[in-house]
Amino acid sequence: MLRIDGSAGEGGGQVLRTALGLSLVTGKAFHIDHIRGGRAKPGLLRQHLTCVQAAQALGEAEVSGDVLGSSALTFRPRALKAGRYEFSIGSAGSTTLVLQAVLPALLRSTAPTTLCIEGGTHNSLAPPWEFLAQSFLPVLARLGAKVEARLVRMGFEPAGGGRLEVTVTPSALRPLELVQRGALVRREARAIVSAVPNSVAHRELAVVREELGFEETELHLDEAQAPGPGNALVLTQAYEQVTEVFVGLGARGLTAEKVARRTCGEVRRALRTDAPVGLHLADQLIIPLVLAGGGVFRTVELTEHTRTQLELVPRFLEVELRCNPEPTANTFRISAP
Ligand code: ATP
Repeated sequence: MLRIDGSAGEGGGQVLRTALGLSLVTGKAFHIDHIRGGRAKPGLLRQHLTCVQAAQALGEAEVSGDVLGSSALTFRPRALKAGRYEFSIGSAGSTTLVLQAVLPALLRSTAPTTLCIEGGTHNSLAPPWEFLAQSFLPVLARLGAKVEARLVRMGFEPAGGGRLEVTVTPSALRPLELVQRGALVRREARAIVSAVPNSVAHRELAVVREELGFEETELHLDEAQAPGPGNALVLTQAYEQVTEVFVGLGARGLTAEKVARRTCGEVRRALRTDAPVGLHLADQLIIPLVLAGGGVFRTVELTEHTRTQLELVPRFLEVELRCNPEPTANTFRISAP
């Protein structure tokens, strides 16, 4: 049985999600302790517990320690069971992170599986819906993955209540080389408001026009019907080879201008390099590439999340992960035997 220290590396939920996903793929059992030991409030929160429950259901796994607040867990998968599953996080916890946990297994399953996940769809420190739909899944499609995702309802913090439906049809994956962005083909700013005055969206879009020089036709306001109030500013830069998505979330005590300026700052930082794979896409691409048998990508900077993947993935799968730093980017080479 593999023993995993949940406080190692980035020390958060990602260690657990990676272990769950790769345990399902390989059939290897694991025991993890110090779950989220690197966080101020360690142990399983609702999102993490839902990841465990989803992995348990899909893998008919024998599990102990699967309760809220638990800091240790044992997970023994039996067989992957395709089908239709419903999971409700019961809070505004991130639905996209529940998908992240079990996606590797769904890609390796033998029949299509549909997951319906309820919770948050626009969370801080997690992939927002637009990142999943416009950035991550299109790269997966280039690997040959057949994933259809539908946003049924948005869910913002703190109310949650969003709903995501995802169908994964297993198919053979092929290696990918993603080293250039290519030319910019489209850019867009979308300010989303749910039970928040439209003036908030207008103020955000005004900052985007001023700071990034977006044209009027590139600015959009979306009135959403989420179960609670929420605001997101989504900036999309679509290149020939990849689409980058930057999302700023409105929050109490944060002005619309501040949300917009921060998000514009993220775009400007990304534009300082020509690396096609952004900070967040990098850690999320590693497992799909390993499952595809390898690949190469260039990314901006080595985050703690990416380093954690580089440490953890080879504990489950025989794979060589190499990273060559360049002056303005890092090139990853992933080769699976
Ligand atoms: P914890 O509460 O323990 O920090 P968590 O389960 O909420 O854990 P992390 O372990 O920090 O989350 O992992 C966050 C994941 O979300 C990473 O894969 C990261 O790349 C992704 N992520 C964070 N912010 C964004 C963003 N703005 N866009 C896309 N992906 C994001």
